[in-house]
Amino acid sequence: MIFQQLFEPRSSTFTYVVSSGVGREALIIDPVYEHVERYVDLCKHLDLRLVKAIDTHIHADHVTGLGKLRDLTRCVTVMGEHSGAEVVSMRVREGDRIDVDGVSLDVLYTPGHTDDSYSFVMQDRVFTGDTLLIGGTGRTDFQNGDPAQAYDSLFNKLLKLPESTLVYPAHDYRGNTVSTIARERAENPRLQVSSASEYADIMNNLNLPNPKMMDVAVPANRAVGLGPDAVPKDRRVDADEAVSTASGRVFVDLREESERARDGWIPGSLHAPYTHLADLARGGGDVAAALKDRPGDVVVYCAFGERSAVALDILDELGVAPVRHLTGGLPAWIRAGGDVHAG
Ligand code: FE
Repeated sequence: MIFQQLFEPRSSTFTYVVSSGVGREALIIDPVYEHVERYVDLCKHLDLRLVKAIDTHIHADHVTGLGKLRDLTRCVTVMGEHSGAEVVSMRVREGDRIDVDGVSLDVLYTPGHTDDSYSFVMQDRVFTGDTLLIGGTGRTDFQNGDPAQAYDSLFNKLLKLPESTLVYPAHDYRGNTVSTIARERAENPRLQVSSASEYADIMNNLNLPNPKMMDVAVPANRAVGLGPDAVPKDRRVDADEAVSTASGRVFVDLREESERARDGWIPGSLHAPYTHLADLARGGGDVAAALKDRPGDVVVYCAFGERSAVALDILDELGVAPVRHLTGGLPAWIRAGGDVHAG
């Protein structure tokens, strides 16, 4: 396995690059905007293809690298379903798995620091975001933070992981790099409490100043996605139009198998997972045939319209005549009254 822990000193943020090595696909967790070129260079140096960029929550102390990484590498941006980000490529919920070749992250919803905080378990380790820090825990006094929820996330989720689980947080301010669940349970001063109310007493009396970057970072991080206007009008199909003209179209679903199983799909859709789109478009299957024979009828779609927007660029580069994308993805289709084939 390839595992790189990178540090951004201004906000003391840890960023993680992970790959099984097999297939050379990689994912990145909590990238920082100013260091995006460094991550891209690292992946190039390690011969890795970045396919997913994940944020544990909407950060208040730095601007996320998700949008810039998507623009540079066409990776899929991932956040939890409760995320306040207006658009990300993929949203996950507790119990879901985030897969790249040979690596999977199990999703835990661990609110409390913010209401959109998630942790990700990978084999012998857990990425805890700001929910659990080394010798500390994430503050609970902004972005819908809640000490009672934080207590529940800590004591009923993270501390229930095997004791030997390695703890990799999103920040450290004291030079630590890794801990374990056992060590945090024994030594973390915030965790030496006997009830949620005792924990809340500590957290409600920290009186911390707001992060310096907060007024810039939070709005920027919420607006990281590609809005509808990122795609020219003549390359978009709005959901109402898509529903009323569905019989004459070929829909191509760019989402992953797990999303299809969870949320269903537009009946009759072909399937071309986004990260393999270029190969499938060049190959000999049904997607390649549709792109060759009826490109003007093809509508690509995904979960929110971000992967499908970037897919148009991928297909343009392959010389496929104009394909369009479904604005807003499957949820917009459902809101417009479109049928869904259950997963
Ligand atoms: Fe945070």
